[in-house]
This record gives sequence, structure tokens and C-alpha cells, in this order.
Amino acid sequence: MSDKPEKFIDEKGLRLDGRRVNEIRPMKMEIGVLSRADGSCYLEWGKNKVLAAVYGPRELHPRRLQKADSALIRYRYNMAAFSVEDRIRPGPSRRSIEISKVSREAFEPVVLTHLYPGAVIDVFAEVLQADAGTRTAAINAASMALADAGIPMKGLVSACAVGKVDGQLVLDLNKPEDNYGDADIPMAMTSEGEITLLQMDGDVTQEEFKQAVELCKEGCRQILEIQKETLKNKFTKLEEVEVSDEEEDVDVSALVESTLDSLEEDETSEDVEDIEEEMEVEDLEDVEAEDEVESVEDQEDSFRDVDEVEIPENNDEDVPEDDEETA
Ligand code: UDP
Repeated sequence: MSDKPEKFIDEKGLRLDGRRVNEIRPMKMEIGVLSRADGSCYLEWGKNKVLAAVYGPRELHPRRLQKADSALIRYRYNMAAFSVEDRIRPGPSRRSIEISKVSREAFEPVVLTHLYPGAVIDVFAEVLQADAGTRTAAINAASMALADAGIPMKGLVSACAVGKVDGQLVLDLNKPEDNYGDADIPMAMTSEGEITLLQMDGDVTQEEFKQAVELCKEGCRQILEIQKETLKNKFTKLEEVEVSDEEEDVDVSALVESTLDSLEEDETSEDVEDIEEEMEVEDLEDVEAEDEVESVEDQEDSFRDVDEVEIPENNDEDVPEDDEETA
């Protein structure tokens, strides 16, 4: 772990990683990365690497846990043992249970759970590499995985944290800002700006808090654009595939038509000689078939011949004589 830096923001207003106070870390994501999941997303945000998978809606077992009027959302946030500098003890911890709970609650107002009574929607968020802001990274990835799974939602959920360093509010904390800063305020919100998750570590004034919410909205707007772009790219690719399929269909049907045309032409231009030739060939085939039958008969005859030849050798006719002799 690095020691606390003397300054987090330089004279030019740049942070330790070169960002301005209202800039998020570079983010990229890809959906549909897991074939067994109904929806999935791999997200990289700064040095964070997160994989989210969604299963469902599917029938919830045991049945006593089912909700009669809606689906249950289960959310599991987990940090891989190798995701941080010091190895994390595998299994749930107080921290991961808390993050799982608040993250699930961040989706409950958005997912149209009433459409699936008795069902469960499982969301798994696996942090593969952690570098501050993993709960918000996981929420962004989970939101995309839910969309990828085709789960009906009012809209996407985007999440980001705002913190305070050197007396200034900063968007999307990096590791030193998270570790040594004066405040850490992770938030998640809908595309309409409705806040679905809000936590706070540290101290800020009321005015700073209001500004923090606005700054976070700005961050979530940037993230929402990336999320929408990712979805658009996937569907554009799908459309391209469909279009190329259609093109293939057109080619195939054109090919079939031209083949049929040429067949018709062949039939009309087929002269009697051709037909006769064909018939001759058929005759020949018949002859060959007859020959085959004959040859089988020949073979049977030859077996008979062999038998006939062998019979005198065995000299069965002599046996009674022998018998008579022995008798
Ligand atoms: N972290 C760690 N070990 C832990 C938990 C967290 O090294 O057991 C690191 C990790 O890089 C994480 C950061 O501390 O991203 C901040 O953790 P926090 O609890 O604030 O959650 P986060 O910001 O990741 O949502």
C-alpha cells in the first residue's frame, strides 16, 4: 500500500493520475461474454476488472422463498482472492455481504420484478482486479448484464463515487484518493437521476453534499453513455449479421431459381437421342442386374458342383455297405 501523498491535486488542477476533478477513469465494457449465463458483462474501469453474470428469471427453489407477486433479486458481490495486493480470504465477509445488500437494493426500484412472480433473478458480480470503486464498477457491469439477459427494466443503472481530497470534491476516486481522502460517497442512479444507492464515508458539509450529488450525476451521465454505446454496438453487430444472412438468402433463392430455369431449359432441349441413350443405359443396367443374378446362380451352381464332386469322395452311398459290412 502506498503512503499518503502530500498533494492529490496539482496547481494545474490535475489529479495524481492526470484527470481533472470531474473526469471518470477510462471505462470499457463488453456484454455477452459468458455463454452459460443469460446475460453477462466484462468491465474495465481504470485498473478495476469486473465480471458480472445474470441468471434468470427462473423458478425459485425452495418454494417457500418465492414471492407471490414478484421476482426475487439476489445479488452476490465477491472479490476474488487474487484481486487485491494482500490476498483476500475466500468466502463472504461483512463487507461483501453489505455491498451485496446495497447493490441489490440499487436494482430493486428499476427491475420490473412484478412480471415474474415466484421467480428469482440471480446477479453475480466477481471482482477480478480491485483498485477503488469496485462496488460501483460491479453495479455498472451488473446493469449491463441484466440488460444483456433481456430483463425488463425501467432503465439502466449507473454508479460512481465522489470523494473529497485537498478540500475539493473529486469524481470517481482512484486508490490513493479512496485510501487517504476525506470522504468517499458511492452512488447509483437511474437514467432519470433517481438515486438508488447512496453511502457515505467521511465528512462533507451540506453544501458539499449537494455538489457531490450533482458531480455524481455528471459521472453517471458519462457512464450511461458508455453503457448505451455498448448496447447499441451489440445490436448493430446483430443487425449486420441478420442483414448478411438475408443477403445469403437472396443469393440462395436466386441460385435456386437459376438452377430451376436451367433445368427447365435442359428438359425442353433434351432430344430423343438423349432419352434413347438414357433408356439404353437403363437397359444396360438391367442387363448388368440380370448378369448379377446369373452370376449368383452360377456361384450357387459351382457350389453344387463342388458338393457333387465331394459326395463321391465322401462316398456316402458306400456307408450303408460299410454298415452292412460292420453289421
Ligand atoms: N480493498 C482491499 N482489500 C479489501 C477490501 C478492499 O485491498 O479487503 C481495496 C480495494 O482495492 C478496493 C478499495 O480497497 O477497491 C476500496 O474498498 P472499499 O471498501 O472502499 O470499496 P470499493 O471502493 O471498492 O467499492
